[in-house]
Amino acid sequence: MITSHKLTMSAYEHSTYADFVTNYITPINTNYGITIDNLGVCSDDAKNIYGFSFGTVGKPVIYIQSSIHGDEWETAFYTITFVEMIINPSLAPYPLQKIFKYLKYNYSFYYIPVVNPWGFENQTRENFNMVDCNRNFGTWTEPETIIVRDKVQELKPLAYVDNQAMSRTSRHSVGGGVFKTRTLIDNIIKNMNFLLDVYVDPYPIDPYEAAPDRGRGWISTQLSNYGTNTIAILLECGWSQEHTAYLQEKGDFGLNANLSALLHLDNFWKNRTLTI
Ligand SMILES: [Zn+2]
Repeated sequence: MITSHKLTMSAYEHSTYADFVTNYITPINTNYGITIDNLGVCSDDAKNIYGFSFGTVGKPVIYIQSSIHGDEWETAFYTITFVEMIINPSLAPYPLQKIFKYLKYNYSFYYIPVVNPWGFENQTRENFNMVDCNRNFGTWTEPETIIVRDKVQELKPLAYVDNQAMSRTSRHSVGGGVFKTRTLIDNIIKNMNFLLDVYVDPYPIDPYEAAPDRGRGWISTQLSNYGTNTIAILLECGWSQEHTAYLQEKGDFGLNANLSALLHLDNFWKNRTLTI
């Protein structure tokens, strides 16, 4: 994409899941009339997992999620902020509004803000059953994982964008699934290195492909509605250890990484530079 305009995340801090639903998810319905789907209860048998569609019906579907690891609660805050800019492009900085309108009218999106609500509330990687949901694909013992699987199988999306965070590292990373998307991932990384004064590298370093028990690994083995396997993209924010304002840095990475991923994906898809 390459743009001199960078998105900047507004201040945010951890809250209860109920407060996150009230302050971030419910307004998507009250402000824009978008239906919020209750996808079912999570592993604590109490907190519901929510999701919603936006963009343009009939266009290629892009599935986005955040906070499958609950201690990576930051990802829900910046990803829903990014999503709201697609729903309402006037929230984006003026020079980028055209880009957000383009995404809104050329794609159909589905978003699950918090895949692991109990972990979000308690700031744990695992769910209530102490299972790492992102390593439960193919095993399917957890309601969180089953909800993601069922939604992906229903939508058969062109792409799956998974927002994660690394808490003990000085780098940001972008990764893929088992489907060969190395060029796409490399382009997103180059763009992030251009946009932000931070270090971004591939995750894992090499090979780029993920194990099939990981969400992005399993999902990228699934056939999409578009003649290719679903393209998995992992956006994994870290922070520079010399920074104290790490929430700001994570948020800035997250917003710009999501935009960069979608625009490079769009380019990749339109030019059919895809191989199976
Ligand atoms: Zn994670």
